[in-house]
Amino acid sequence: MVPTPKSPSALKFDLVARCSVTKARASILRLPHGPVQLPIWMPVATQASLKGLTPEQLEQTGCRLCLNNTYHLGLKPGQAVLDAVGGAHKLQSWRHNILTDSGGFQMVSLLKLAQVTEEGVRFLSPHDGSPMLLTPEHSISLQNSIGSDIIMQLDDVIATTSPDLSRIEEATHRSVRWLDRCIAAHKTPETQNLFCIIQGGLDLGLRRQCCKAMVERDTPGIAIGGLSGGEAKDAYCKVVDTCTELLPEKKPRYVMGVGFPEDLLVSVALGADMFDCVWPTRTARFGNAITSSGTLNLRHKSYAEDFSPVDLDCNCICCRSEADGGLGVSRAYIHHVAAKETVGAHLLTMHNIHYLLSLMNEVREAILEDRYPQFLKDYFRRMHAGNREKYPVWAVDALKGVGVNLLEQ
Ligand SMILES: [Zn+2]
Repeated sequence: MVPTPKSPSALKFDLVARCSVTKARASILRLPHGPVQLPIWMPVATQASLKGLTPEQLEQTGCRLCLNNTYHLGLKPGQAVLDAVGGAHKLQSWRHNILTDSGGFQMVSLLKLAQVTEEGVRFLSPHDGSPMLLTPEHSISLQNSIGSDIIMQLDDVIATTSPDLSRIEEATHRSVRWLDRCIAAHKTPETQNLFCIIQGGLDLGLRRQCCKAMVERDTPGIAIGGLSGGEAKDAYCKVVDTCTELLPEKKPRYVMGVGFPEDLLVSVALGADMFDCVWPTRTARFGNAITSSGTLNLRHKSYAEDFSPVDLDCNCICCRSEADGGLGVSRAYIHHVAAKETVGAHLLTMHNIHYLLSLMNEVREAILEDRYPQFLKDYFRRMHAGNREKYPVWAVDALKGVGVNLLEQ
């Protein structure tokens, strides 16, 4: 049974501009802790602190919406402490917006013994091995205690690469049933926005069915889930493109697990607004810098005497010269400290977050000025040093599908 639609919402979504060629949109998402400009990429702050960054430093990167993991917060400090403190904003002194996941994905990916039943996700406690159960109701209750501005439904996530179509079909329908249980359990819809998560693997028919059922539930925002799990990129693009066709114009669309620059640019062209990924911060800890000419591993010896900034065009505190109030950090310095000192990871984390946030700002500007197709062409040309043979075929094809031929200047 479908719950009564028009459930309360704690957000306002203003669509500001639409690209005249692709499906890209620019919008403002007004959340309880302030407005957020879309399209956006959101950094993941595991355990309520971004590895290597203080809340002030995260704020300085321009971030106004970050992710917290429900699974980690539920384990430590735990629901009782969260309730006592008054939620995750207070716990981590973060005055901007927070989005939390349902905790389900963490369990299924971290705990090999997790088992999904209609009731919820069964797993063994990583502390004492005792059997535990995460239900849709429990996930929402935890997220209510966390007090995040956007909360996610518990969904039944199956790897897109799974060959078991009947299991994918079961997971799709179960995710809809679990959404109904999440809606019923959600105690604070006036201050927290529940997003549904569309499942269906790579099967476009199942994705369409799931879109229809989820849209009927009328949640404040909509996520496309279960992707970025190792599927072919062209299959990924087909799913995003198919779903955005069926989603309402006036709601934010969040594609989970996306963080490579090219994937972000193509997904925006396919009509998505929000993304998250642990890769940019995780890869920083291995000495990798995201730049407009590709990802550079600064641990490589070729950078030992390279005294240029991490990225020539970057305006982050790490790359900016001391004369301009920055730290004036060079590639050689990161190379020197990358493997040994946490400061290297710390600086690169700031740079990578700043890079992706400003990339999305540039994307937004280009959409507002209706020059996104040219922006895409310029970005790919630069990224691949003008060598069109290096352009990924999936990106060329997906963009062709929305009216942009990357191979034409
Ligand atoms: Zn930088």
